[in-house]
Amino acid sequence: MVILQGKSVFGGVAIGKIQFFKRDEIQIKRRHVDDPEAEIRRFRTAKEKALSELQQLYDKALTDVGEANAMIFEAHQLMLEDPDYNDSVENIINTQKVNAEYAIGVTSDNYAAIFEAMDDAYMQGRAADVKDVSNRLLSQFAKKQNASFEMTEQVIIAADDLAPSETVQLDKDKVLAFITVEGSANSHTAILARTMNIPAVIGIGDTLTPKYDGKLAIVDGQEGKIYIDPDEEILVAMRKKQAVEQEQRELLETLKGKENVTRSGQKINLYANIANVSDVGAALRNDAGGIGLFRSEFLYLENETYPTEEQQFAAYRQVAEMMAGKRVIIRTLDIGADKQVGYFNLEKEDNPAMGLRAIRICLTRPELFKTQLRAIFRASAYGQIAIMFPMIISVSEVRRIKEIMDEVKTGLRADGIAFSDQIETGIMIETPAAVMISRELAKEVDFFSVGTNDLTQYTLAIDRQNRNLDSFYDSHHPAVLSMIQMAAENAHAEGKWIGICGELAADLSLTERFLQMNIDELSVAPGMILPLRKKIREL
Ligand code: PEP
Ligand code: MG
Repeated sequence: MVILQGKSVFGGVAIGKIQFFKRDEIQIKRRHVDDPEAEIRRFRTAKEKALSELQQLYDKALTDVGEANAMIFEAHQLMLEDPDYNDSVENIINTQKVNAEYAIGVTSDNYAAIFEAMDDAYMQGRAADVKDVSNRLLSQFAKKQNASFEMTEQVIIAADDLAPSETVQLDKDKVLAFITVEGSANSHTAILARTMNIPAVIGIGDTLTPKYDGKLAIVDGQEGKIYIDPDEEILVAMRKKQAVEQEQRELLETLKGKENVTRSGQKINLYANIANVSDVGAALRNDAGGIGLFRSEFLYLENETYPTEEQQFAAYRQVAEMMAGKRVIIRTLDIGADKQVGYFNLEKEDNPAMGLRAIRICLTRPELFKTQLRAIFRASAYGQIAIMFPMIISVSEVRRIKEIMDEVKTGLRADGIAFSDQIETGIMIETPAAVMISRELAKEVDFFSVGTNDLTQYTLAIDRQNRNLDSFYDSHHPAVLSMIQMAAENAHAEGKWIGICGELAADLSLTERFLQMNIDELSVAPGMILPLRKKIREL
């Protein structure tokens, strides 16, 4: 038996086989081909597709960021059509009778090396462009080759790390637990594990290696321990622990239908955080009073291209209908930072957490924003929908958002499409700037929801993704708690309500403090609603 130690993200015991997560990585293997002509045709088809992708990128960049910035895609097209580059690939295929991927890989390495060896810094930088263009070409083959990662039975997923987009694409019913080499406790992958109610241990380090693929293991989520090839004694003990957990869950069931009220009569709303429609079941099973945070960006993360208005409308409508009149707060697109979506073609940034993300993307791409807003407004005719906006730092942003919302409403009226005229609008309080001007912001909106994950990150200047900083990431820091208090006082001074939807909302050691601050709502992973209700009723 081997015991590995990591950081606990979500409790619970899981017993099953380990399966290592395999990415759709572009792996270039040299393969002999009998028919070089056919291989050259494969290369040319891929090239045409890559060229048309680049044309789309160029067109989009032209409208979004102007001609000067769009030029890069034109340059990439020229590189792809460069006769020397093409001759090199086709020659390698012909003379060596090898596959196109291999010929592209060799050509890319050769050309990049030539650029890198040049004296001029500008020319050296072009090596990255050659690699980028070649990777785009290679990805055309990869799309077909790599069927998605499949699980044939329920397994413990092991990985070096998982991106949020990868996590959401896994078949949840087959995932017993997540264990990862890297990862930070505040990352979106960790948050997803909590939402999915799946035991998770992260930051295990290099001791978690693929040699454990297929081995029987036990994950003790609470202790952050993994037992590989467990001996009989541990198996018996862990099965017992599992049974105790099950009993506790059943006990919590008895709290269903009961009020979230303290002994002195103070009430608070308990809502659920969800990432997509399939999480609504868990919200309902756990007696959520509403949805306090629908992370709508997961609709984008799960898609291969921008989800259409219809697609989004269908999802929002379904959630509104399933929640049957209970409040559903849809947070508009919060892409960027760790939530990267390839087809957004966002530039690589040195400081992505402080970069073009969330509302900043929506305000620079109003058409994208309007599509989402139209879908949300349309869904408002089917339930009690509220909208909230992430990463707000100024009153002018909120006013601009309102103008855009008005344009969307005018458009819907002109099209004769029904929507509710009682949609509440709110903002997330997740930057120190928003806290400091919360009195002004409160005049503009109906409610606040504190995103403590980002508020902690930006207040303490700690990258929430960096696992080496987990010990510094202190969301109980007095500065963070004072900020929540300040936002609450300012919201209430303007007669508005305030909730918390970051992970801190589920921290039972702070529940009493939040009640003292008169927080009106806590929105948490569905599995945390009943433990919170228990805590509140005991206070
Ligand atoms: C937060 O920042 O606390 C929050 C709820 O938003 P997200 O975790 O999705 O960034
Ligand atoms: Mg956030």
